[in-house]
Amino acid sequence: MPADFDLIVVGAGPAGGTAALQAAKAGMRVALIERHRLPRHKTCGGGVPMAVSAEVPHFDPQTHADCTIRFMRHTFRFDQPCMAPIQAPNDPPDFGLWCVRRHVFDHALTAAAVNTGAELFDGLTLETVEPASGAVQVQARNGLSGAPWRAVASFVIGADGANGVVGRQVGLRLSRTDAIAMEALVPHRWGVGHPSLRPDTIHLEYGAVRNGYAWVFPNAEQLNIGAGFLRAAHPLRGAAVREALIQTIRAYAAAMGLEPDGDRVRFRAHPLPVWSRRNTLDALNARVLLVGDAAALVKPLCGDGILNAVRSAALAVQCILEGQPAAYSSRLHSEIGTELQAASRLSALFYRLPGECFRYGVTRPTATRTAALLLNGRLKYREIAPRAMRRLMQAITGRRF
Ligand SMILES: Cc1cc2nc3c(=O)[nH]c(=O)nc-3n(C[C@H](O)[C@H](O)[C@H](O)COP(=O)(O)OP(=O)(O)OC[C@H]3O[C@@H](n4cnc5c(N)ncnc54)[C@H](O)[C@@H]3O)c2cc1C
Repeated sequence: MPADFDLIVVGAGPAGGTAALQAAKAGMRVALIERHRLPRHKTCGGGVPMAVSAEVPHFDPQTHADCTIRFMRHTFRFDQPCMAPIQAPNDPPDFGLWCVRRHVFDHALTAAAVNTGAELFDGLTLETVEPASGAVQVQARNGLSGAPWRAVASFVIGADGANGVVGRQVGLRLSRTDAIAMEALVPHRWGVGHPSLRPDTIHLEYGAVRNGYAWVFPNAEQLNIGAGFLRAAHPLRGAAVREALIQTIRAYAAAMGLEPDGDRVRFRAHPLPVWSRRNTLDALNARVLLVGDAAALVKPLCGDGILNAVRSAALAVQCILEGQPAAYSSRLHSEIGTELQAASRLSALFYRLPGECFRYGVTRPTATRTAALLLNGRLKYREIAPRAMRRLMQAITGRRF
């Protein structure tokens, strides 16, 4: 069957935008389908590791960031503050973090893909994905008019996030930990509230959420205050989860000297598909590949998923261009999966003993820089996890391991 497109990308988040941009840059005929009209909101802290730049060379994330982060301030149960710079004086400047508003960031990435030649179809919800004699047929529906949309492509990349349908359509049942996180966007004027609230500082709170953490991230004229349960074994279920996250966010705001106007603040929660073990991420003779949250690549320790979304998308396109789409799952595992495995082990210890890990790990003078290196993939979890775990157990028990 003749293909309308070389590649259909489903979902215009960081993963989909990257895939569409990289494929269009390589001369592929690309369709990018997005359920929402753009720009759309995405519930997220918006902390973006600078390493994203290297994965999307034709896009400058900094231009679309609100704040460049220089410091992290850590607390345990809103107490014992420990503030440290991300970089040492002679460090290169490229392993820090930016804080972005996701509707701005994602839209800019999508616009870059469109400017490079990708065709955007927003307001279209993908419904079915089927094999079509050596190609893939996709059916979607316009959210407003209800009109159907059909197209055939040589490849489909499922970048449709935590609740994506592409994987299910092609029979991929992924193993993942279903975590959840919530954000509240609080209008803010600098100078109001706790003096440590600054546009160059992120705040991380470890003791207030069991099996998770809370954050305050700066944006241009607002704060992104959030909390998440990162491990499946949290004791709450259903509405109680939402209520606990709202209470934590309110308590964090109060601890930072803020009194958000209840009517102007909206609490939004979204699933976090945290990596739990190696999955097969290709189907229909490797004509369909899953990337980003749709592939459950959120990191187990911090719940960050943007860098892996971008990395997996770039790798999927590379495998297609090299004529090796069937190699995608195993290459992804060796490049990202083994890291996620090590992060998962560290996360299990961290959330079992958060107080001890805070005291003997987070407050160490080098810990903030190490965290930034890990978030940027410049330091490997598998390099530090065994030593960090040994040190912690030694500090806690007083015995050598
Ligand atoms: C509260 C919270 C805070 C977070 N904070 C951070 C953070 O600070 N840093 C970080 O790195 N990560 C963070 N994450 C994780 C991060 O948001 C995700 O890992 C990231 O968005 C994954 O990108 P993606 O492109 O794979 O998916 P998404 O960004 O979810 O994009 C998927 C897109 O697919 C579209 N879509 C879905 N279904 C269909 C369909 N049927 N048809 C067409 N389109 C469809 C969606 O509308 C969406 O636009 C956070 C997550 C949450 C919930």
